[in-house]
Amino acid sequence: MTKYIGAHVSAAGGVENAPLNAAKLGATSFALFTKNQRQWAAKPFTQEQIEKFKQNCKDAGYTPSQILPHDSYLINLGHPEQTALEKSRNAFLDELQRCEQLGLDRLNFHPGSHLKKISEEECMDRIAESINWALKQTSGVCAVIENTAGQGSNMGFKFEHLAYIIDRVEDKTRVGVCIDTCHAFTSGYDLSSRDAASETFDLFGEIVGFKYLKGMHLNDSKKELGTRVDRHESLGKGFIGMDAFDYIMKSERFEEIPMVLETPNSDIWTEEIAQLKEMVR
Ligand SMILES: [Zn+2]
Ligand SMILES: [Zn+2]
Repeated sequence: MTKYIGAHVSAAGGVENAPLNAAKLGATSFALFTKNQRQWAAKPFTQEQIEKFKQNCKDAGYTPSQILPHDSYLINLGHPEQTALEKSRNAFLDELQRCEQLGLDRLNFHPGSHLKKISEEECMDRIAESINWALKQTSGVCAVIENTAGQGSNMGFKFEHLAYIIDRVEDKTRVGVCIDTCHAFTSGYDLSSRDAASETFDLFGEIVGFKYLKGMHLNDSKKELGTRVDRHESLGKGFIGMDAFDYIMKSERFEEIPMVLETPNSDIWTEEIAQLKEMVR
């Protein structure tokens, strides 16, 4: 089995540092922000930065299928207001282009929020339109929709939402999903035992399909099942527990995709990664 296990590492000082930070953890995958996730604008990459990033990935043995870039938190591809929607779409396009420049093949993002101003369907239609618009202007990068905990008016907290959006994306070869275990759990999908995890992922397979699975966020949860609150916890220390992660590590459903920790205590990432690697059959 080929499991790629890592964490969302810092890219402070430049994207080229992310693969170095991942390698220090003994990670076989990593996630990163290619720009400051709390700001709209970013300086374009220099040619030197791009080359360094690629070289550092090569030296540490990371191929694009082991890397999961995450876009800015400010972007809302389902925004109810036209001006704000356009701002988000342009920022999303820029994020895709930055991935293209780095030679990366996927971009993870949160679908969007209706802000209680439009219906859930209208919001998801806008999200799909945004994806179509951005994909037409780029090539080689897959738009990877993350499931959410369903906090506030965030869409993407049901597998049906992910399927609804995928259904409306024209190029099915360039759309995928990332499942965050904490978000799935607090949005109501039980993962607190092996059987529960197996059933939850059966459901995912039926509604979305594993061919669309392009990444995983491995997080335990500080909050209980169905609370729709997004609070990550270190593995085994929350309401999910270790069984779900053991299930994922041993299942053939999760092969050759980046699976990354976004757990709160980065001091123990090395141990968490080692623990996960040991669970792989
Ligand atoms: Zn996540
Ligand atoms: Zn989260």
